[in-house]
Amino acid sequence: MAKRHDSILSTIGRTPVVRINKLGPSGVHLFAKLESFNPMGSIKDRLALGVIEDAERRGELQPGQTVVEATSGNTGIGLAMVCAQRGYPLVVTMAENFSIERRRLLRFLGARVVLTPAALKGSGMVAKAEELARRHGWWQPRQFENPANAEVHARTTALEILEDFEDVDLDLWVTGFGTGGTLAGVSRVLRERSPRTRIVVCEPDNSGILGSGVVQPRDAEGAPSTSHPAFRPHPMQGWSPDFVPKLAEEVARGGRIDRFMPVSGQDALRCARELATKEGIFVGISAGATMAGALAMARESAPGTHILCMLPDTGERYLSTPLFDDIGVDMDDEELALSRSTPGCRFDVAAAPAPAPAVEAVEAVATAATVVSPSPAAAPVPGGCPPAHADAEAEAEVDALLSDPAQPLVVFGLAWCEFCWSVRKAFAQRRIEHIVVDLDTAAYQRGDRGGRMREVLRRRTGRQTLPQIFVGGEFVGGCTDVFDGLRSGELQPLLERHGVTHDATVHADPYALLPRWLHPR
Ligand code: PMP
Repeated sequence: MAKRHDSILSTIGRTPVVRINKLGPSGVHLFAKLESFNPMGSIKDRLALGVIEDAERRGELQPGQTVVEATSGNTGIGLAMVCAQRGYPLVVTMAENFSIERRRLLRFLGARVVLTPAALKGSGMVAKAEELARRHGWWQPRQFENPANAEVHARTTALEILEDFEDVDLDLWVTGFGTGGTLAGVSRVLRERSPRTRIVVCEPDNSGILGSGVVQPRDAEGAPSTSHPAFRPHPMQGWSPDFVPKLAEEVARGGRIDRFMPVSGQDALRCARELATKEGIFVGISAGATMAGALAMARESAPGTHILCMLPDTGERYLSTPLFDDIGVDMDDEELALSRSTPGCRFDVAAAPAPAPAVEAVEAVATAATVVSPSPAAAPVPGGCPPAHADAEAEAEVDALLSDPAQPLVVFGLAWCEFCWSVRKAFAQRRIEHIVVDLDTAAYQRGDRGGRMREVLRRRTGRQTLPQIFVGGEFVGGCTDVFDGLRSGELQPLLERHGVTHDATVHADPYALLPRWLHPR
């Protein structure tokens, strides 16, 4: 049957359950539900769609209304996807100590991120979201209390589990909790429809807020009034906030937790790495922690026991966290030995061929540039050979660009050249207005117009390479010439003579703007 999706949103859920083959004791059937298969890579995509659709249905969320939420990242990333697709602006409040890639992902998806001080912990970001919602009339999903959070897991996650284990008894279901949405929704359905499945809840071993049995202090409205006394900072992002969420508390009160399993941060990191290196399953820290808890249960289970654990997200979100602490950037001794085992392409052999001067790369840049496109009138007849007067035409075009007193600073470059990008970044940094003529754009490719102009430049300057920078019609050199000129201060007077202004307060080293692979080792 053809399966075309109407939008990204219908790809959420129906994540695979995969057997863990090597990490567990033999004889025990250990499985993991891989929530990284959701479109934005985490279990929170389910919640995002669930709460938004619920609010739409109840008429609580108006078309175009801003959504604001406190989130350690995955909820925000899921919400950002749903909001982008449904046309709601999104503001996310997040403690500054969560990983950088989460912030950048959110912004990439069009959300705005308001950071809160790490010292104020999870409660700080929640308080900030509430303040913003009140002040600006924004809609707040309130993932920690919203019943739609549990509901979406009862409707989707739980039913998927029942379906995938319809032919065997699921003995243990192992999870952690953040908001408690997964725990609340799935445990409710499992109790009803698979009553012999025991429910195991993992917590950081140094921060067992729910397992401690100590009641969460709450204000008159039921909101947490202080951090839970058992809370301590831990590395499992997305797990156990500094308070017991209502959703998790209700599960504990309802007697739906059969066992608490404390997991150490070290075990969480180790299991995430072992899942990657031994099973090829790439997940985050809380997933490593849940797997550690499931493995502990597996070790005390009889052969034939069926265990399922929830792996909430992808590991890609943790590149700047302790999960990747031991993962090097440079070659280690073993890799160096491998490199030396054959003669070519080595760093330690003088005759190694130098990489060709690079021209292509992709990097975003803010510029103070006007990018020039050729006027259609000047284009040669498409399809024809460059006629005899082609050079005259290209000469005239170059001359026109170099003799415009309104645009004295001209960068001839290539749209995808890293050196060209670096020059533009240096000019942008100093607020130096310039025009950019990218000779490889589609417009300049027609009739090889860019190639012919490049040939004109080559004859005039004696240089093969781009960028070529001109001030008042005078050739001042390429990327490093300009950088040297900016560094020594010799370029600035020339710019001033031609009326090009610059921000003299900027003293940043332009060489730092070169692509990283070009930096001296
Ligand atoms: N792990 C990660 C990485 C998460 O982002 C979350 C959600 N905060 C969880 C686990 C816990 O899920 P839930 O909120 O449904 O309890």
